[in-house]
Amino acid sequence: MAELLAPPTRLTHWIDGVAVEGGPWAPVFEPATGQQYAEHACAEEAVVRGAVQAARRALPGWSATSGSERAALLHRFADAVAAEHEMLAQWESQDTGKPVHVARAVDIARAVANLRFFAEAASQFASEAHPMPAAINYTLRSAAGVAACISPWNLPLYLLTWKVAPALAAGCTVVAKPSEVTPLTAHRLAELSKVAGLPPGVFNLVQGLGGEAGASLVADRDVSAVSFTGSTRVGADIQTRTAGHFKKVSLELGGKNAFVVFADADLPRAVAEAVRAGFSNQGQICLCGSRVLVERSVFDAFVAAFAAAVGRLRVGDPRDSSTDLGALVSAAHRDKVLGCIARARAEGGEVLTGGGPAEVSGRCQGGFFVQPTVVIGLGPDCATNQEEIFGPVVTVQPFDGDDEAVALANASRYGLACSLWTRDVGRAHRLASRVRAGVVWVNCWMLRDLRTPFGGSGDSGLGREGGWEAMRFFTEPKNVCVAY
Ligand code: NAD
Repeated sequence: MAELLAPPTRLTHWIDGVAVEGGPWAPVFEPATGQQYAEHACAEEAVVRGAVQAARRALPGWSATSGSERAALLHRFADAVAAEHEMLAQWESQDTGKPVHVARAVDIARAVANLRFFAEAASQFASEAHPMPAAINYTLRSAAGVAACISPWNLPLYLLTWKVAPALAAGCTVVAKPSEVTPLTAHRLAELSKVAGLPPGVFNLVQGLGGEAGASLVADRDVSAVSFTGSTRVGADIQTRTAGHFKKVSLELGGKNAFVVFADADLPRAVAEAVRAGFSNQGQICLCGSRVLVERSVFDAFVAAFAAAVGRLRVGDPRDSSTDLGALVSAAHRDKVLGCIARARAEGGEVLTGGGPAEVSGRCQGGFFVQPTVVIGLGPDCATNQEEIFGPVVTVQPFDGDDEAVALANASRYGLACSLWTRDVGRAHRLASRVRAGVVWVNCWMLRDLRTPFGGSGDSGLGREGGWEAMRFFTEPKNVCVAY
């Protein structure tokens, strides 16, 4: 196993294969302790421009490499991340507040899987041919150009590699921008791009504030594709800023996902998975089931078991292997979530468990912890059931029959994911087609094959990532028709 290093205290940009300072410095906090442990550089427009130009210079060489050459380099990139799996898990936990065991099993494992998946995809990628009588059409797919990859703070390395890997696999060069709230593992990823042997300029990274570094990056006319994961508000801003540029834009945005339990479901499993769906990563996953809908005949039994199970979750030091929930990502986010709980009460909701900040003693007494919270008694139209909270707060509502289940599941501007729990196979298929969501799970949650396209509709975004769909996004198709 690689040596476990302490995290660096100055997190820089990475341009043309080297670490670069530029712009003012901003503090980075450890959410579990509330203490500052590092500072990150804040790219201003000139730094962003420099990164885009480095990517532009590297584009002809990189896009001309064969799929198998890119595959080999992406495998080496995956190897370099895998070699530091434990260290990166500890750093990811320090940066986000999530339990180390979650970072180990989810974030870093998936970052490696993303790089490997798209390494394989680079070697397997193919395009279409459409024969006509006396002519053949074929589609040439070349790299779209310089790709901007902008990611949020909840699953930092997981989501960044989910963009960077398909972009590189497709032959694009990249300027990545991680969240300013969680800049640490992206800083290391940049260094590992060199360890892996990526040529200078192929992978660049700018650290900095969204409204400044992010906004400059998406607006740069030499960026041909923008792949963004984050909030609906910023997604809308990016659409505005890029209007008239005609660049490719993929937006993976927020969610307010329904977790629908019918009376015929395996209730103990549904309860256990509703707990996982609601509170994994402190409820800070876009796919979290934050609105649980339960058929009325089993509502009381479900709610009693669910609230009891949530009440048993342990909030604690992310370094402790028995911790279920660590800290929320920042003081500001903790305050926002506590405000949402106060609003749920003001709207008439009854808090069955949780409902306030969680006290964690010792090293973590200054951390940003919130109790896992279950609320009942609220209808579909209230702000609590309409707005994304993105924290450990789940509401439970009753319904009667399939039509009301669908109506409640769809009573949201978002359309990201839905989980259906029933033993009736016919109902599962019928409802899967009626709920408005980019992902529908039946008797499971957050299970997926990376080959499937991923994305939402409505306020959850535009475009599909994942699988070949993701690689196609980073290409420019050209149809050639040859008559003979
Ligand atoms: P955010 O929108 O505040 O920030 C996301 C990224 O965009 C950050 O890197 C930020 O610096 C940057 N940014 C901010 N303003 C920008 C601007 N004007 N132009 C360009 N870039 C800008 O989101 P967040 O708070 O970091 O993340 C939480 C949100 O992300 C939640 O809404 C969550 O649902 C969503 N999310 C969605 C998915 C998905 O796959 N659909 C996955 C994870 C998180």
